[in-house]
Amino acid sequence: MPPSSPRLPFRIGLGYDTHRLAPGGPLRLGGVEIPHDHHLQGHSDADVLIHALIDALLGALALGDIGQWFPDTDPRYRAADSLELLEQVVAHLPRHGYRVANVDCIVFAQRPKLAPWTRAIAGRLAAALRIAPGQVSVKAKTAEGTGPVGSETTIEAQAVVLLQSC
Ligand code: MG
Repeated sequence: MPPSSPRLPFRIGLGYDTHRLAPGGPLRLGGVEIPHDHHLQGHSDADVLIHALIDALLGALALGDIGQWFPDTDPRYRAADSLELLEQVVAHLPRHGYRVANVDCIVFAQRPKLAPWTRAIAGRLAAALRIAPGQVSVKAKTAEGTGPVGSETTIEAQAVVLLQSC
C-alpha cells in the first residue's frame, strides 16, 4: 500500500475481467472445473472470476492491478493456477493490516448454466480468501443473448471486496 495511504477502518475494491472462449472444455471458473464444451483462453489459466477478484483486492489497497503483479509477458505465469495467484495476494493483506470482510461477485456467461456451481465456487474462493463461505457471494447472469457474452465470444466477471482493518 502506498505510504501516503491513510489507515482507514474499511477499504473497498472493484474488479473486472473478460476472457475469450475457445472450443474444448472444461471451463475453469473461481477455481472450479465445470464441464462445458468451451474453455477460457489466456496466458494463465484464464480464470476470469479470480482475476476480477484479485483486481478488487489490489484495488482496495491501492496496490495496482493484476497485470502489474503477474505480467502476461512473464513466462512464470504461463498456465498459472489463478487460485495460487489469489492466495499470494491474500497473504499480503495482514502485512497491510487488513482482512477480507466480504466479497460479492457476478459472472456473466450465456452458457453453461452456472447456478448449480455458484455454491461450490463460493466455497473455493472463501478458502483461498481465508474467510467463511457465508462471507462470499457468487452470482451468475446471462447477457440475454446480447453483446460478446451473449454470442458466447467471452465470459466476463465483476467483483467487489470490502477489507476491514485488523
Ligand atoms: Mg484475466
